[in-house]
Amino acid sequence: MERRRFITKGIAAGAIIPAAYSIIGQSANATPIGVNDNETIPSPPENDPVVIERSVSGKPHKGKVLAVIQPHCDDIALFAAGTVAKLIDEGYTAYMIRTSNDDVAGAGRTLGERVLNNENDTEAAAKVLGITKVYDLHYRNHRMDEYNIQEIKGRLIFLFRLLKVDTIVCYDPWGHYEENPDHYVTAKAVEAARWMAGSLDYPEHMEVVKPHLVQERYYFARGPQLVNRVVDISKYIDKKVESNVVIKTQGPGGDAGAALRKSLAEQGKTLAILGDNDDTANSSFVKNFVLDIDSEFHRAVPSDKEVGKKYGLEWAEQFHYFGKPESKIGEFVEKNAVKKS
Ligand SMILES: [Zn+2]
Repeated sequence: MERRRFITKGIAAGAIIPAAYSIIGQSANATPIGVNDNETIPSPPENDPVVIERSVSGKPHKGKVLAVIQPHCDDIALFAAGTVAKLIDEGYTAYMIRTSNDDVAGAGRTLGERVLNNENDTEAAAKVLGITKVYDLHYRNHRMDEYNIQEIKGRLIFLFRLLKVDTIVCYDPWGHYEENPDHYVTAKAVEAARWMAGSLDYPEHMEVVKPHLVQERYYFARGPQLVNRVVDISKYIDKKVESNVVIKTQGPGGDAGAALRKSLAEQGKTLAILGDNDDTANSSFVKNFVLDIDSEFHRAVPSDKEVGKKYGLEWAEQFHYFGKPESKIGEFVEKNAVKKS
């Protein structure tokens, strides 16, 4: 999307690769495949480097808790499912929190049918990704700007404390030009709640839970944002595809591939990329059109393949990431403390 390119290019012109980013999961000074040493690529400034997060072996995140937060049943599947599948595979226990109830009547379905179908689709996508449990907050669809944010925050704070959440994946509360009120209201409530969860706010909670600060964040956006982490999702692209295919009621995936295949057949045509049955057509439609060729139209973000290509990866998702702050006092004391004479 042009507006995203504007910000990444604007702040990065002239940045040279080796100093511009480091790599998690491989030798930090390795040059990504397909990227030339003296090639100039868009990248944030040196003091806020883009980190490439690659797959790692084993379960380095075992014992950690991930909360995957989305306003609607298709948001995580569309924008972050590869990273979510990767983090779960690497040991996280994950919970999904959906803030809206996705209610909207029309297209041959009653409002009640739509709510139920989207609830089932959310569960199906969560199952594909290996998520342990889904919490639905059930705020009215596209009306989240009419709710008191304290109420939403209070519920999120309780869940963050109850589940002892270490890491969250959500929309970026500082992303620009987001048009959907559910997206920016949820993002703002989540950011405030993850911070307040570590305080003594909402003291009545303390009878059943303890303060618990959420420190690690992966924020995605549909508009310009500061990208400082690119996650290699090549190993998990099929999980991401499947999580979109099982969302049948809304979203650009579902049975769209089978519908296109049927429509072409009625015109006496066929498209090789769709394969020879409805299942291959549905998967192929998501992988090739929704996530790649027609990504700007279907998702309003650049293709996952194009994002990956910039860093020598096959498929990638990008985020504004915040890690756990590290105190430097211990290191300073270690270096400078001397025995009193
Ligand atoms: Zn949404």
